[in-house]
Amino acid sequence: MQVPLLDLVSQYKTIKEDVLKQIGEVLDTQRCIGGPKVEQLERDIADVCGCRYAVGVSSGTDALLAALMSLDIGAGDEVITTPFTFFATAGSIARVGATPVFVDIDPKTYNIDPSKIEAAVTAKTKVIMPVHLFGQVAEMDAIMAIAQTHSLAVIEDAAQAISATYKGKKAGSIGTCGCFSFFPSKNLGGIGDGGMVVTNDETLHHRLFIMRNHGMEPKYYHKCIGGNFRLDPIQAAALLVKLPLLDKWSEGRRKNAAYYTEKFKGSPVVTPTINTDCVSIFNQYVIRVPRRDELVKHLQQNNIGCEVYYPVPMHLQECFACLGKGPGSFPESEKAAREVMALPIYPELTDAMKDYVVKTILDFVA
Ligand SMILES: *Cc1c(COP(=O)(O)O)cnc(C)c1O
Repeated sequence: MQVPLLDLVSQYKTIKEDVLKQIGEVLDTQRCIGGPKVEQLERDIADVCGCRYAVGVSSGTDALLAALMSLDIGAGDEVITTPFTFFATAGSIARVGATPVFVDIDPKTYNIDPSKIEAAVTAKTKVIMPVHLFGQVAEMDAIMAIAQTHSLAVIEDAAQAISATYKGKKAGSIGTCGCFSFFPSKNLGGIGDGGMVVTNDETLHHRLFIMRNHGMEPKYYHKCIGGNFRLDPIQAAALLVKLPLLDKWSEGRRKNAAYYTEKFKGSPVVTPTINTDCVSIFNQYVIRVPRRDELVKHLQQNNIGCEVYYPVPMHLQECFACLGKGPGSFPESEKAAREVMALPIYPELTDAMKDYVVKTILDFVA
């Protein structure tokens, strides 16, 4: 049996006609930059997130970048974040000239450990950038309390957590702003790159709105130095078809997660911990196992897709050697990088496929 890590073809088959029709409308009108599809998606995503404003951008990375630029973060500023994340989180901080200051993770949730943040705050700290890793929102109450005490902005990297909740609040709606990615492997994936920033702050919304278009307002008058961070209307068209199905798809992932977790009970496989305050969207189902690298090979040999998110924490990346944080600086992140692996969790998985994944893993760890 073949079980890929993700199967976007089987999902596309269920929505193909609607996607082609929506894209056809963009092409027929030749509104190829901005336009009604982008505006509609912005309204719909703002609604879904319980936020007043949303600004479509070119990727999740550019969402983070535009958010930092709109808050005037730059040289001399420090941004507190997690070293256990996708590169774009720390990369965007460094690209605006600020310094990423890492804080280790909670080994249970893989999210930034709020009890360690306070010690990392300095006079230069401007922002906390928590990441809602694998689809579970970080401990936002504690993070917001620290931000309030020190007058810091909070940029939620919610790229993996669209529509996940924390105490009933949607990911991205709790901090100063929230950043989403529509990379195809995210729960709400486009047919290419795309992203969105949501906020309740009217001033920040306006800054983001002009920042994505070269800081321009009115035409050819530039208030600030922005970029071309615009969301492609072809992406917006496809996303408008997918957005109404997002909750159903995320529910499918939660059911698959519950299935795996039940089957792994009593085995050496450490299954995900979801805080009682949180509803995860399981962008990834991540287990910890002894002999992780051997198990990855074993699954590959048995035609089961799996992936290590992420094998090298940010402070140990070559490009961040300049930060001077060597091995041992963030032990929980380093341990996670050695032990974790993600299993197929997409909603179209059949019971037979899940059983095959479980059996192959249990045979190996036995
Ligand atoms: C995917 C992702 C991003 C970047 O999104 P892109 O759309 O690929 O630029 C940023 N942060 C995290 C945590 C992500 O998973």
